Amino acid sequence: MTDPGPARITRIVIVGGGTAGWMTAAAMARLVESGVAVTLVESEEIGTVGVGEATIPSLLDYNRMLGIDEDDFVRATGATFKLGIEFRDWGRLGDAYFHPFGTHGRDVEGVAFHQLWLRQARLGRADMPGPIGDYCLSAVAARNGRFTRPSANPQSVLSTLSYAFHFDAALYARYLRDRAEAAGVVRIEGRVAAVDRHAGTGFIEAVRLADGRAINGDLFVDCSGFRSLLLGDAMDVGFTSWQHWLPCDRAWAVPSAPRDAPAPHTRATAEAAGWRWRIPLQHRVGNGHVYASDHVDDETALRVLLDGLDGPPLADPRQLRFVAGRRDRLWDRNCVAIGLAGGFLEPLESTSIHLIQSGIARLMSLFPDTGFSAVEIAEYNRQMLREYDQVRDFIILHYHATTRTDSAFWRHCQSMTLPPSLQAKLDLWAGRARIFREQGELFTPDSWIAVLLGQGIWPASVDPLTAGLPVAESAMFLDHVREMVAKTAEAMPRHADFIARHCAAPL
Ligand code: FAD
Repeated sequence: MTDPGPARITRIVIVGGGTAGWMTAAAMARLVESGVAVTLVESEEIGTVGVGEATIPSLLDYNRMLGIDEDDFVRATGATFKLGIEFRDWGRLGDAYFHPFGTHGRDVEGVAFHQLWLRQARLGRADMPGPIGDYCLSAVAARNGRFTRPSANPQSVLSTLSYAFHFDAALYARYLRDRAEAAGVVRIEGRVAAVDRHAGTGFIEAVRLADGRAINGDLFVDCSGFRSLLLGDAMDVGFTSWQHWLPCDRAWAVPSAPRDAPAPHTRATAEAAGWRWRIPLQHRVGNGHVYASDHVDDETALRVLLDGLDGPPLADPRQLRFVAGRRDRLWDRNCVAIGLAGGFLEPLESTSIHLIQSGIARLMSLFPDTGFSAVEIAEYNRQMLREYDQVRDFIILHYHATTRTDSAFWRHCQSMTLPPSLQAKLDLWAGRARIFREQGELFTPDSWIAVLLGQGIWPASVDPLTAGLPVAESAMFLDHVREMVAKTAEAMPRHADFIARHCAAPL
């Protein structure tokens, strides 16, 4: 008789019912039909982090994968549309720029658009081309409070628009929970008090609840948040801290009443020892102050947040504590950590929910059997760790690329030694404004260009191939692009009107 080989996974246990837990459960729910039992354990008494309101465009892929109707989702989560982030006071006090989703202009005869823009800007002529954001529809529409969905016609300027959402993360988790439970995912309320591991292999066999119940499984997904109950505590996988590059370790968060119609963008304002977020939802505004406790005390940090609100607070402020970094492996034996249980990067570029989603997508594409292939686990870890590191570099860039010297915090950020991977990227940019997307990298060259130029990091020179394109023609081309973008943005509906027409949440 031939060896039947490893058996299929028939019991998946997810520990934690925050955004990570329910996103994982909703994605795994499709396996229920084929006989896989998917169980999620969560403890209402412990609760969730409960912040996490801004997203990036990749969330559309996740929602589409689940067959979610977008208007229905926007209504159910009180969401607004997000075209990018406005950064204030980062490169220099008083400066502002957009990191938009979508692209800037278009390449000409193999020369990247930003190279053409830089060449014109460097010429310092009277017809200076204006900020590079003027050439990106998402940036101009965001600035003017406009929104519509992109066009599928690649010839249309509207096809260059890209968007994500601001939403109530608790409502999103609830929305996904309804879908997951309807598809057969079983939710168990209870507190995990112990983890049973096989004495020989170290594989997790069961999680044991405080009331004595044991939940057995083949595959365990740790979505227990900062506690990292399974991967961190039980499997003892180490944590690499990035605090020396990202010293912010606390946040105050508070919702406030809206004063104006919601803007279709997040705002991130740099402060003396961190930064403040402002995230407009349909019926409230999410606010927070992320700060470095080595540089500012809690009371002052709270005052900075409250003084910056543009409407009255709607609840008591909450404090959160964290350390930037990630586990050394995100998959160990039969345990995969998704969400905060695997790592944390501050919400400056709204990447946590994306990292949850990419953890789920990679787990699905490397879905194990009970043999748990070491090669596949190594590949999962390689891809996930690389993505964490790449996102980390992009976030560090915002702190480092500054001329601010008004506080010890900014002086530290400006002078710190960078990760070699980021330093190499900056060196390449510093010469001829070269910027490339690494394999699997989330942020595109357009994102890097927006932040580098927005924060005043100018290269010494430009692509020599620009010399083949006459200056006068390039100037006309730039004018044309800028005009098309402005006209297209002008013709778009107001963001608030778009929501009222398509997807307003009930009051
Ligand atoms: P949690 O929300 O902490 O959920 C953990 C779950 O595990 C809970 O259900 C809890 O009950 C359960 N649990 C824990 N211990 C036990 C136990 N012993 N027994 C049973 N159950 C247990 N992300 C973004 O994408 N955009 C943002 O704008 C954004 N802003 C943020 C701002 C701040 C200040 C912070 C700290 C995070 C932010 N995030 C943001 C990250 C985002 O909040 C999280 O990534 C997301 O909420 C996922 O959290 P989680 O599900 O991993 O953990």
